[in-house]
Amino acid sequence: MSDTAIEIAGAGPAGLAAAITLARAGRPVIVHEAQAEVGYRFKRDLQGLENWTTRQDALAVLRELGVATDFKRLPCRQGTVFDAWGKAYAIYSHEPLFYMVERGPGPDTLDTALLRQAIGLGVEVRFNSRVQQVHGPAIFATGPKAADVIAVGYHFDTHMADGFWAICDDDLAPKGYAYLLVMGGKGTVKSCMFTGFKQEARYVQRTVEAFARLVGLEMIDPRPHGGVGNFRIPVTARSGAHAVVGEQAGFQDTLWGFGMRAAMTSGVLAACSLLEGSDYDRLWRQELGALMAAAMVNRALYGLLGNRGYRWLLHQQENRSDARELLHRYYCPSLVRRLLAPLARRRFRSQRKDESCNHVDCSCVWCRHGREWHA
Ligand SMILES: Cc1cc2nc3c(=O)[nH]c(=O)nc-3n(C[C@H](O)[C@H](O)[C@H](O)COP(=O)(O)OP(=O)(O)OC[C@H]3O[C@@H](n4cnc5c(N)ncnc54)[C@H](O)[C@@H]3O)c2cc1C
Repeated sequence: MSDTAIEIAGAGPAGLAAAITLARAGRPVIVHEAQAEVGYRFKRDLQGLENWTTRQDALAVLRELGVATDFKRLPCRQGTVFDAWGKAYAIYSHEPLFYMVERGPGPDTLDTALLRQAIGLGVEVRFNSRVQQVHGPAIFATGPKAADVIAVGYHFDTHMADGFWAICDDDLAPKGYAYLLVMGGKGTVKSCMFTGFKQEARYVQRTVEAFARLVGLEMIDPRPHGGVGNFRIPVTARSGAHAVVGEQAGFQDTLWGFGMRAAMTSGVLAACSLLEGSDYDRLWRQELGALMAAAMVNRALYGLLGNRGYRWLLHQQENRSDARELLHRYYCPSLVRRLLAPLARRRFRSQRKDESCNHVDCSCVWCRHGREWHA
């Protein structure tokens, strides 16, 4: 069967990482992408490639997985987080806490780097090709199918210096966080909310006002941008005979919505399972299961905190020197997290609907994306 082309639905990080792995092993691969370009839903979004879930550096991990890292990135070691009362907490880590990267079809983006590597290895990428059905071996990598979280705000140009800032305040981003990222004269400001989607416009406005007040946010030519995130620990990440990878399977950091690494890791694992004839469900459970369970416990606990709790948490980290070390510990499987995991799972189910939204005559991100899913 090694001459049969493997079809991959979706040219996001998950699908392209799978394609790269298969092509490196000499298998013919066809990637179908529904849109006309890579990274369509992100355009020129700035995102963080987190660097705290593994002791080894995230870029080294990607290289070990066979994924090239020749995309533009900004190692982020220092930033500022504010509580709801406007008090600033300095964030510092010796090694990068995360790498800021650009998404979308631009020349320096993560998506373009993955596409370039895949094409260089002989992968055939078909754009404007929406997969409805597959007949041979395939991997599904079509991104989120529900909205457990939305991140909404603006992209803009700016003269601000590179950096990252966040605010933990339920009046700006309920159960989530507001953030501002700037790299090379481009910026994004977002409210990343886990509920209250119906009031998205109000939260975005408050977020912009807060960053203007706290750090002098300067937006030139602001363009609205938003998207959804979907996470759950699946019972199985297979659809019939086919592996499901990335956010389509629910793989993503449940606490804060960092999904790129889980997307690429699961893509590589699915490809390996095809190449070796091994059990994909066993592979992702080994590699991602404990991490996702810990993140889900963290999400359940974070959801209980509220503004005073976030302030307490920020105060705790302020007295420790290294934010990466602290976050690494929060994501490490521990006895306490193992014991809390069943409770967290029960408390946090993939919501698939937002109770604050009545879905009637509504244009919130949730409802707009709902239309896209059913297109
Ligand atoms: C606003 C926002 C900010 C984010 N910030 C971060 C961050 O800072 N750090 C982080 O790690 N993660 C972040 N994430 C999450 C991260 O972007 C995703 O987890 C990641 O892109 C998932 O990759 P994926 O390949 O699974 O899916 P996607 O990137 O969504 O790719 C899926 C692809 O499949 C295509 N497709 C869909 N249906 C079909 C079909 N039927 N046939 C063919 N193609 C199809 C889509 O067009 C798309 O190109 C953010 C998400 C959002 C919305």
